[in-house]
Amino acid sequence: MILFVLFGLTIQSQDTVFTINSSHFAQISYVKAEDIKEAFGIKAEWNTKNKALYLKKGKKVTIFLENPFVKVENQVVQVVYPMVMKKGVLYIPVTTLPDILSPLIGKSVTLKGDTLIYGNTNIHNFEMKYKDGKTEGIIYLDDNLEHIFKGSGDIWTITIFEGRPLKGIFPIKGKGYIKSIKVRVTDALTEVKFQLTKKTFDVDVKRSPGKIIMTISNKKRRVIKTVVIDPGHGGKDPGAVGYRGLKEKDVVLDVGKRLARMLKEKGYNVIMTRTTDEFIPLSERTKIADKAKADLFVSIHCNAAPLASKNGTETYFLSAAKTSWARAVEAKENSSIRFEKTAENPKPGINYILWDMAQNEFLKESSELAIEIQESLCKQIKRKNRGVSQANFYVLRLNYMPAVLVETAFVSNPREGRLLSRSKFRDKIARGIANGIDAFAKKYAQKY
Ligand SMILES: [Zn+2]
Repeated sequence: MILFVLFGLTIQSQDTVFTINSSHFAQISYVKAEDIKEAFGIKAEWNTKNKALYLKKGKKVTIFLENPFVKVENQVVQVVYPMVMKKGVLYIPVTTLPDILSPLIGKSVTLKGDTLIYGNTNIHNFEMKYKDGKTEGIIYLDDNLEHIFKGSGDIWTITIFEGRPLKGIFPIKGKGYIKSIKVRVTDALTEVKFQLTKKTFDVDVKRSPGKIIMTISNKKRRVIKTVVIDPGHGGKDPGAVGYRGLKEKDVVLDVGKRLARMLKEKGYNVIMTRTTDEFIPLSERTKIADKAKADLFVSIHCNAAPLASKNGTETYFLSAAKTSWARAVEAKENSSIRFEKTAENPKPGINYILWDMAQNEFLKESSELAIEIQESLCKQIKRKNRGVSQANFYVLRLNYMPAVLVETAFVSNPREGRLLSRSKFRDKIARGIANGIDAFAKKYAQKY
């Protein structure tokens, strides 16, 4: 028998890659027992009498010469090819390595072609596809791993909790719409950051068994057509109660109806979360908007404060509250949840982060919508301009569309309370919001 050292066996884990020589006899690939022993720091003892090689590290493994059975502790395992001896040197078939190495080193060991992969990696591969005008980045991973996806413009990140990638699976250079890839691995997570070739793609991430698929495609032209009008509170939840018992829920329903009429005149489709004095849970309001696949969401409210002199108009979009006043308004509007029978609290943990991130894409659009409405509304009703703010309103969550909450005026302020009870003033509010929506829609159509 002639011995040819022709090939190499690559041994790869999450932090090392090295190659050992492999030899072929009768078209079967072997490695020297001595090389494996050294590579993995295994104790080995050859017993001439039993023709057995005793290996020990984590567990005890015995391999027999010319005998296709190995012993793992006291369990007998059948392998495809036996160990052979050539010129006094012991050779182990490459296909036997996973069976004997897993118990020895206590880690998963798999053979893929000429590569032996070991260690507790759970992100196995990465692949990029560029076809039909879109680019896909596919991460192959274990199904139990949780991920979050966030980003905007040309930077998007997939974070995989407890993710341990196999070394070398992520290239630095991208393909198609992916310009480059940066990977950060810590004990707690693996973060894969994608730099795209431009800022205006539609980027979407889907999970299917064994993989995360990120799809990058050219933005479809979007038109603002359907608007959801959400008159706040209703039914058992009166909202703020102010001047001469004026209830927020009644004012905003009337304003909402006026707004609906004006928007329809301008050619919009309008969906109202309520048209009567009924209680609608906050989560139900967002569901209505999502289900309708609406393009905009506007929640209408009246403000209130313990200090009667407080007055003016402000518009909010979803984000963490930045000021103590924004937190106070947020608490007031979110308190509607106490009227809900089965307190449908926002989903905690990762889901919370997920929709927060989903909204991110619309954060800029929501802030632009808020600015347009605020300006237009102030022009119409000429009350103090309290500006645009950010707060974390339940009712603005889960909407895959720009969403704002308008605090028209203060029911708790005697002057504004009086105004809010008048039909003419309500008309002005509705006109202000309608014009703001229209201005935003026109700019939006040009931009996206
Ligand atoms: Zn309210």
